[in-house]
Amino acid sequence: MPTGTYLKSSIWNGIKKHVHTVNDNTKWLLGSGHSVSFWLDNWLDEPLAVKFNFLVTVYPLLKAKVASFIENGEWILPATFVNHDVSIRDRIHEITLPRQPMEDRLIWCAYNDGNLTAKQAYVLLFPTQQKLDWTGWIWHNFVPPSSSFVAWRCFQNRMPTDENLRKRGCVVVSACDLCLSQSETTPHLFLTCSFANNLWKWLGSILHIQFNCSSFHSLFESFDANWSAFLTNIATAAVLHVFHSIWLARNGIRFSNAKITMHAAQSKILTASKLSATLAPGLSNAAEIAILQKFQLAPRPAAASSNRLVLWRSPIFGWMKANTDGSVTNVSAAYGGLFRDHTTRFRGVLHKN
Ligand SMILES: [Zn+2]
Repeated sequence: MPTGTYLKSSIWNGIKKHVHTVNDNTKWLLGSGHSVSFWLDNWLDEPLAVKFNFLVTVYPLLKAKVASFIENGEWILPATFVNHDVSIRDRIHEITLPRQPMEDRLIWCAYNDGNLTAKQAYVLLFPTQQKLDWTGWIWHNFVPPSSSFVAWRCFQNRMPTDENLRKRGCVVVSACDLCLSQSETTPHLFLTCSFANNLWKWLGSILHIQFNCSSFHSLFESFDANWSAFLTNIATAAVLHVFHSIWLARNGIRFSNAKITMHAAQSKILTASKLSATLAPGLSNAAEIAILQKFQLAPRPAAASSNRLVLWRSPIFGWMKANTDGSVTNVSAAYGGLFRDHTTRFRGVLHKN
């Protein structure tokens, strides 16, 4: 029943701000052309009114439908229009008109089938937020959950440091137990405190890298991309053990008045990392032996290819047999060969590095 009052739509307000998105991403697939505006809808590459730079003020006057320019399945374009821009005429003639009666269809340009599902619309409007890729750095079956948990809480800023307790109204005065020179925040305690900083420097020197301590992400991003899977796993474990050690050192002072020395913290981290290495998967590179030795770990080279038995037969009478071989690495190459006659007598050798 018609009413004199205007009822505000709760849905339209939300939709209308996306009208442009829909216009920009859709195109009409012509059927009969009865539903498609010749000038204003996008059925070519862009609306013709836009192509011809018509003033927006004349848009309401442009009421012609595409159907008005089709007769018996053929285009009938006005001569003035055709002569204005031949390329547009050609482009229009490229459009295949249906032979059978068909409805016009608005299709979504970005997808092959022209359909837009609710999921695709959501992805379009809310592009994937930065994936929680850091969780991949933290949870591993070769690292005790207690160590991973500290790092996980740091990434989420959920450690019960003074700063976070203060936010809940629990702590008024704060001093970092490890350096006594700053108030305790999570980034300070784990990244910039002198105690933490010394540990990151020490671990960096072992791994031959420099840890970027500006954020929890940047610590892991400091890893060398050329590391083998094995060394990457050990470095990951070591970093997580550093987090755990810092937290234990802080709690030791705060709750048990037991100060841990830098040396003791380092030994603890090395022992825990060595234990993690026994469970960690992956193989190492030859270039990593020195780093692995600092963790007191044996290298884990890729298995050598299996041996194959080759039987040597002497050549027939009057012939000489030459057996050659060579090998190459990225820094060196060598080859060699042996000559034997039909009596198997050694007749010569060649070799070169
Ligand atoms: Zn501190």
